[in-house]
Amino acid sequence: MIIDAHAHIFPDKIAQKASAGISEFYGGMNMDSGGTLNELLQKGSEAGVDRFIVQSVATVPEQVTAINDYISYCVDKYPDKLIGFGAMHPDFPDIQKEIERLISLGLRGIKLHSDFQNFAIDDEKAFPIYEASEGRLPILFHCGDPRSDRSSPDRLMNVVKRFPRLTVIGAHFAGWTVWEKSSELLGKYIRENPKCRIYTDCSSSLYAMSPNHAENLIRKFGADRVMWGTDYPMWNAKEELARFDKLSLTPRERELVLGKTALKLLGEI
Ligand SMILES: [Zn+2]
Repeated sequence: MIIDAHAHIFPDKIAQKASAGISEFYGGMNMDSGGTLNELLQKGSEAGVDRFIVQSVATVPEQVTAINDYISYCVDKYPDKLIGFGAMHPDFPDIQKEIERLISLGLRGIKLHSDFQNFAIDDEKAFPIYEASEGRLPILFHCGDPRSDRSSPDRLMNVVKRFPRLTVIGAHFAGWTVWEKSSELLGKYIRENPKCRIYTDCSSSLYAMSPNHAENLIRKFGADRVMWGTDYPMWNAKEELARFDKLSLTPRERELVLGKTALKLLGEI
């Protein structure tokens, strides 16, 4: 079972523009593809991916309900393939109500990207999202950026300590480009608090490091905390699996990162 735990999808009409916007934000980083659902499913299936956690970021509060409707529409179309995470924004007027609605739509988590949404993840204005999600929905946080500390490992740690019942997924080894810091800080916390609800994914990270470096990061968090993902449309499943295949992991570690950790997080095993 291979699960892509980090995939963005956009309605066909805006996919090209949305992909171009992300590429520009990340300094012209080359996006693999256009960001449509069909392409994700096609490229993923060709590479042997069984299921996908799909989400989209609301850059302004006005987009939240439309994104949630769209993701739930996609999940209804491919219920065996897709696990949908909803959108939320700290400036959304009735956070609690929309979180109840997205749960009723069958969405199973929330994606936040504080650099696109312009807030620090430990800012009080985001607390209503965490309060409404604690014990119910995991939150996938984009984490890490050398240009800003809004989603830094320190701030993620503040959220974890303040909301211990909240399941958090710190994307990109919980700190894109600040991997040593994130793995030291969060890895230590996980070892000292084995019941904590911290997860991470290795998306958009393997391209930037040696296989040995990635193995060390996975072991610092523990393979039962790490999920494989493409960050589609940034990368495609085939190339991201090829990067992952270069790591010297035990069969158990591989199985966890490629799917079992996600199933555990989702409460399916
Ligand atoms: Zn993302």
